[in-house]
Amino acid sequence: MMFARLDQLMQAPVYQLPQAEKEALLLPRLNELTHWHDQHCEPFHHLMQATQAQLHATDYGDLPYVAVRLFKHRLLSSVPNDAIFKTLTSSGTTGAVSRIVLDRDSAALQSKVLVKIMQEYIGKQRLPMLLVEQPALIQNRSGFSARGAGALGLSFLGRDHHYALDEQMQPNWPVIEAFCEKYADQPVFLFGFTFMVWQCLLEPLKKRGIKLPLSKGVLFHSGGWKKLTHLAVSASDFNQRCADVLGIQQVHNFYGMVEQTGAICVTCEHGHLHTPAMADVLIRDPKTLAVLPHKQPGLIQVLSALPQSYPGHSLLTEDLGTCLGDDDCPCGRKGRYFVVHGRLPKAEVRGCSDTFR
Ligand SMILES: [Zn+2]
Repeated sequence: MMFARLDQLMQAPVYQLPQAEKEALLLPRLNELTHWHDQHCEPFHHLMQATQAQLHATDYGDLPYVAVRLFKHRLLSSVPNDAIFKTLTSSGTTGAVSRIVLDRDSAALQSKVLVKIMQEYIGKQRLPMLLVEQPALIQNRSGFSARGAGALGLSFLGRDHHYALDEQMQPNWPVIEAFCEKYADQPVFLFGFTFMVWQCLLEPLKKRGIKLPLSKGVLFHSGGWKKLTHLAVSASDFNQRCADVLGIQQVHNFYGMVEQTGAICVTCEHGHLHTPAMADVLIRDPKTLAVLPHKQPGLIQVLSALPQSYPGHSLLTEDLGTCLGDDDCPCGRKGRYFVVHGRLPKAEVRGCSDTFR
């Protein structure tokens, strides 16, 4: 596999490449990956032929893409079976399960990039970590659920791991108390899935009228807002509650899917999701699939320099979002930034996935 372009992207600062410079590095790498998967993944090759796709794109809009739901129907792999190091799964609400295969190189690359991105927010030192999870989820490594893999991936960034929940998904008060006694007003790292942080930690804390002394903490959460939208909890409600009951001011949401682990997008202090150097997004009209200009909502297409063991470098998601701009977020980070609105109702995605029916 050709690594030169990947090395350049890996060495680039995560958020300081202006969009034009980033595209000049990322597009050739994405073309490389299209060729690689065309040669090594038969279903992908068939898709390229059936859609008469250009294997060499001259801009993002021309890049061939795979509908993300295809991973629910087919095992898409670009490595021999004996090179598969682990398989990630994510079960959607419909019951269909996506399967993503990783070889050792891809798995290592993904954790390396995840670390690089996270260090932008928590620094290089390993911080004491409170996971809003049950210990069993992490310790049971046989079945790699997306949730387990997500938490496990991030747990490498912390030390002295404490698990805030017990087996019944209730707050484990003695553990939380011990963590706070040990690390009150020191830099700490908290991670959990958005809904679980709200339901299993922020709500119980409020009910008990407790405020934790985690003023120098950083909280990362991911997993979508759908359940919280049903409860009428907005991002600013969530952040406010974190300040009220945890004492935490620095709260980051991130967008990333099991089909494209590693190159996550993280919200800045203005609530905008930022693409790192090794990934990007564009927005397509849900009906025509034409690329939309900034500020118009549509389907999110995610691009990533990382997926080598499966054709996930250019994916059309079923998520709705809007690109807000390039290089000009008030937080100072360069590159493209966007917001996610939620899932396309009934997943009315036209296109590639029908090729395999
Ligand atoms: Zn920003």
